Amino acid sequence: MELHIVCIPGDGIGPEIVAEAKKVLNKVAEKYGHKLDMKDVLMGGASIDAYGVPLTEETIAAAKAADAVLMGSIGGDPNTSSWYQLPPDRRPEAGLLGIRKALNLFANLRPAYLYPELAAACPLKEEISRAGFDMLIMRELTGGLYFGERRTVTENGVRRAVDTLTYDENEIRRIAVKGFEIARKRRGKVSSVDKANVLDSSRLWRAVVNEVARDYPDVKLEHVLVDNCAMQLVKDPAQFDVILTENMFGDILSDEASMVTGSIGMLSSASLNDTKFGLYEPSHGSAPDIAGKDVANPIATVLSAAMMLRYSFDLDAEADAVEEAVRQVLKDGYRTGDIMSKGCTLVGCRQMGDLLAERI
Ligand code: NAD
Repeated sequence: MELHIVCIPGDGIGPEIVAEAKKVLNKVAEKYGHKLDMKDVLMGGASIDAYGVPLTEETIAAAKAADAVLMGSIGGDPNTSSWYQLPPDRRPEAGLLGIRKALNLFANLRPAYLYPELAAACPLKEEISRAGFDMLIMRELTGGLYFGERRTVTENGVRRAVDTLTYDENEIRRIAVKGFEIARKRRGKVSSVDKANVLDSSRLWRAVVNEVARDYPDVKLEHVLVDNCAMQLVKDPAQFDVILTENMFGDILSDEASMVTGSIGMLSSASLNDTKFGLYEPSHGSAPDIAGKDVANPIATVLSAAMMLRYSFDLDAEADAVEEAVRQVLKDGYRTGDIMSKGCTLVGCRQMGDLLAERI
């Protein structure tokens, strides 16, 4: 199979971690007989330095022409980088919002998986972490409160701020379909999260999710109120497979879920549109504090590449092989600094990439 991938190394540790993900992808291509066509483009701070803007038309066109985009991370230290002297729409993060919009990436996927070898980093009680968990948060990314009309007015000397939360049934249906499709590739359970006891938008959400569920009789559906879901995530995270939810609830719950794993350098993510196309990136930022030192953990980016193989290319065996390589490296006791524990072997970013590639 021919895989056309655009890579956005980005800023900070971005180029280092993307290089290791490429190393692993090259090994996968060699072993499974695929032809990789990978092209680097600029975005974020690197694009500001080269072209004066965080996102160019050329980068958008290159991304649109590819099957998938693999990204490192963008941005610098807001306290010291000159990029943050620019107006907000010219700063590195504006590139990120711009590309999500240009590519119509409405579905955000963030897995939260607890590796038994890293259970000590999990902040939950031992009896909970011992059970492990493996969930995926599917968040609607382009609608809801963050995109609704907003204004601040002063009436009779009193300031009033208004934000609006709207969803139409088509926006809900397309993300629900993604949620059920992905549950089929996992353990076949969807927990749809809303606040249907209060919000109209949630009542519509629940009704449309129920309609979509009829086409997926093999997938078990439950509805969970968002406040209860926040509690269940720390009480019994093992109960969840796919959590399907709207933009703001997903923003908050996905951060909560990633915190309970305890290891930010391990968490991948994907943003998808209604084709097979996706943008894949680690959940963490560009870590300017450790850039260029060969100490970053490349695993989140490598696991993002595994998601790309699974969701954009339907190469499940190849994705499994990458995920298994990660498990094996951890089992063999190799750690980067962020996940280091007593008795393990400390390795740098490049060596971690080599160890992963060797295990494909
Ligand atoms: P961060 O995730 O970059 O760093 C937080 C802490 O985690 C730091 O101590 C860092 O060293 C550590 N860390 C992060 N990733 C690591 C890895 N792979 N290996 C080892 N340690 C790792 O968050 P921040 O410091 O708040 O943000 C830094 C920059 O990243 C900012 O400019 C921010 O806007 C940007 N950012 C970009 C994205 C994105 O591109 N999607 C996401 C979040 C933050």
